[in-house]
Amino acid sequence: MNATDMQEHRLSWLGPTLVPGLVALVLLFAGGVYLDRQNSVLNEERARASVMAEMSLVRAKLEGNINGNIQLVRGLVSVISTEPNMTQGRFAALVSILFEEKSQLRSVAAAPDLVVAMTYPLAGNERAIGLDYRKNEAQREAVLRARDTNKLVLAGPVDLVQGGRGFVGRFPVHADTPAGRAFWGVVSAVVDVDRLYADSGLTDNNLGIEISIAGRDGVADEGTRFFGPDLSNDNPVTAQVVLPSGYWEIAAIPKGGWSTAHGGSWLMRALMVLAGALILLPIGITGRLLGERQQHYRELKTRESALESLSRRLGLALDVSKVGVWEMDLATGQETWDDRTNEVYGLPADGGPRSHEHWRRAVHPDGQASAEDNFRRMIRTGRYESTYRVLLGDGTLRHVRSVAALYREPGIPDRVVGVNWDITADVVLNEDLRRATQLTEARNHELELARVRIEHNALHDSLTGLPNRRYLDEMLRRHAATGFGDSGSMALLHIDLDRFKQINDTMGHAAGDAMLVHASAVLRDNCSNDDFVARIGGDEFVVLTKASAGDIYLGELAERIVEQMRLPVTYEGHECRFGVSIGIAAERTAPLDAKRLLINADIALYRAKGRGRNRYEFFSEALQAEVVKTKRVADEILNGLERNEFVAWFQPQFDAHTLDVVGVEALARWQHPTEGIKAPDAFMPIAEELNVVATVDRLILEQSLAALARWDAIGLGVPRVSVNVSLRRLNDEDLIDGLKQLSIEPGRLSFELVESIYLDEGDAVVGWNIDQIKELGIDVEIDDFGTGYASIVSLQKLRPTRLKIDRQLVSPIVVDQGQRRLLASIVDIGKSMGIEVVAEGVETMEHAAILRDLGCDILQGYAFSRPLAAADFEAFLKAQAWRQAS
Ligand code: C2E
Ligand code: CA
Ligand code: CA
Repeated sequence: MNATDMQEHRLSWLGPTLVPGLVALVLLFAGGVYLDRQNSVLNEERARASVMAEMSLVRAKLEGNINGNIQLVRGLVSVISTEPNMTQGRFAALVSILFEEKSQLRSVAAAPDLVVAMTYPLAGNERAIGLDYRKNEAQREAVLRARDTNKLVLAGPVDLVQGGRGFVGRFPVHADTPAGRAFWGVVSAVVDVDRLYADSGLTDNNLGIEISIAGRDGVADEGTRFFGPDLSNDNPVTAQVVLPSGYWEIAAIPKGGWSTAHGGSWLMRALMVLAGALILLPIGITGRLLGERQQHYRELKTRESALESLSRRLGLALDVSKVGVWEMDLATGQETWDDRTNEVYGLPADGGPRSHEHWRRAVHPDGQASAEDNFRRMIRTGRYESTYRVLLGDGTLRHVRSVAALYREPGIPDRVVGVNWDITADVVLNEDLRRATQLTEARNHELELARVRIEHNALHDSLTGLPNRRYLDEMLRRHAATGFGDSGSMALLHIDLDRFKQINDTMGHAAGDAMLVHASAVLRDNCSNDDFVARIGGDEFVVLTKASAGDIYLGELAERIVEQMRLPVTYEGHECRFGVSIGIAAERTAPLDAKRLLINADIALYRAKGRGRNRYEFFSEALQAEVVKTKRVADEILNGLERNEFVAWFQPQFDAHTLDVVGVEALARWQHPTEGIKAPDAFMPIAEELNVVATVDRLILEQSLAALARWDAIGLGVPRVSVNVSLRRLNDEDLIDGLKQLSIEPGRLSFELVESIYLDEGDAVVGWNIDQIKELGIDVEIDDFGTGYASIVSLQKLRPTRLKIDRQLVSPIVVDQGQRRLLASIVDIGKSMGIEVVAEGVETMEHAAILRDLGCDILQGYAFSRPLAAADFEAFLKAQAWRQAS
């Protein structure tokens, strides 16, 4: 039922009973109101009478008590009139008799000539004695009024000096005197307020009324209330308390107000409502039944029209939705198809008879059996639901959905009623959607793979697949707090491939890459699965592991890596060799300082390389100190180079037979600003690391050429100067260009090359430079011959002008016959190849003689002269001192 129906429904049941119901209601209401009115008037009168009765009692008591008190005092006043000279004793005796009567009197005072002379009781009132009323501001007025009017004046209630409150009555007293009757004075009596109230029943808790009294000092006209609440607005019952001098207005209402007094009226009202209800209820019920009948009728009508509209709407919906309806008589097998069903199966909409066969034939042959089976199986359950394909005459394929239900009704044969519609568009759409979803999923999967790949790439080295520098940083950060693998410690092995650059340069980058992959495999194989292996630079690797297993474990790990790395690796038929240097640092207390760990491992690595590669070193404090020192020296060397502190010293070379000076070797010296002259072993290794040896070589060469020119100029006749050339300088592609800038006379300059230089036959630059050096007319000498691995073949290839037998071989010849023979054969080789032979380290003349006899051409050594500074060297030459020595 919708909202308007409800409305209608409500109105309809009111309809037939509305008029009589309303009339009854109005009459009932009017009668009720009248009765209620009458009832409340009666009630109110009753209440007022009862309040009045109760109040009158109080009023009477009040009046009686006050007047009683006054009567008592009047008695005293009469006695005083006759005994004007009464003493305090007599006064007290009299008053005490008064006080024996039941009264509210509290105290009495007598004041002849208006000065208080006697009081009772005396105790507590002593201070009043001697009080002159004329001089007392507060009391003067009342006292004088009593005297002047000659009447009792009652004032109060007032707050008493002695505490509490009271009414004060002033009685004028006249007494007989010899001159006749005259004003004697005043008697004051104090009535206790609280007692008066209590005795009059005013403060009685059982009192049913609320009382207020107005008229302080008996002046009711001024309305000054002194007792009870203000009742003036509550329509109180009132009366007067008449006093000897004026009156009080007393007012009263029931306790809690008038309304509580009318309790009876509610019962009356309830009775009236009940009576009304008894009359109205039957009218209502009748009306309701009538209404319901009308309602049912209307509902029937509504339903009928709803059904009509529903079937119209259904028709429309079927039409719009292209849903076809069919029916099958299960007894005869006869079917009825509507136009749309015919259309779905591609049959003419001719209303002709149809059978199950029509349907079966329309279904696609591939699906016929299963569709048929489906139909037979499900129709038995009373519900059928199926989807199948239909092949139309023109070859169009259609997807059809069919739903049907068994329809059973008494009197007619059982039938199946069904609907079917073309869902081809849906199926196609679904198919498209499914494909689209699949595509999206595939794409998402690809994206996810790509993301993982990118993430992996960002943290891994693409060549070896090992974690990269970034990953290492991340790991260090991650494990800083608790150590590696929560061990509280961490060890870092910094691994650097030795000779990797050469392999890269000589065999190509592919070979280099293969070596790196090999190296990474070696590292992975030797580390545990928990260890972290990363490639952090071209040929640099790092292994992170826990340090808790101790240095021995770390040492063994490093040892294994060093050993396996030095094994040759075959690349495209070539055997490649390289090695590794490893620096190890460990932190053993978390939190770890990752930065320091890295630096320390680096220092240790540096030391490992310094100590000859293919080895490992642990970081230590001593090592660090050394590094600091090396760093200082390195700085000094760089400064020294700027300040020209590197100078050439000279050591002469002599013809073995004539002892003529045939040449001079220039040797580098460092004039340290504070530590004096330093020999090459004190600075060469560091200069090597600093990569400045070539610079030193160049400086010495320039100084040597300058010296040679100078010696020529002063006629010292030095035929040739030899300089030492480092491998680094020989590797310099710009060496030859640099040399060409200098004016070098052919045959006057010789380069001493250490023999290890020739081992590297693969190095094109070195080979080419050596050829060019020769072209420039510079002699090439092999230095330190006999200590390295120079072969006869390499000698042949290089064809040096001279070879210089190392001083280690020369030194023992005086005592060692065999050594002498070795030297003799070297000389023979030189001779046979047309190479001059120089002997260095000739320390004594005995050596000189032997070497000369063995066939050495040139001699150099302390026997003749130590290396000398340029000036000393010139002096030495001038003096020709060696000739005397020999
Ligand atoms: P070296 O080329 O073998 O130089 C000869 C070394 O033998 C010099 O040492 C020289 O003082 C020392 N010597 C000479 N006669 C005797 C002797 O009778 N007995 C002994 N025991 N020693 C003798 P120095 O000057 O200390 O030079 C050491 C090495 O430093 C040189 O060995 C050379 O390899 C290198 N060197 C010196 N100057 C240069 C330079 O300008 N450039 C390069 N690259 N290396 C240099
Ligand atoms: Ca030399
Ligand atoms: Ca040498």
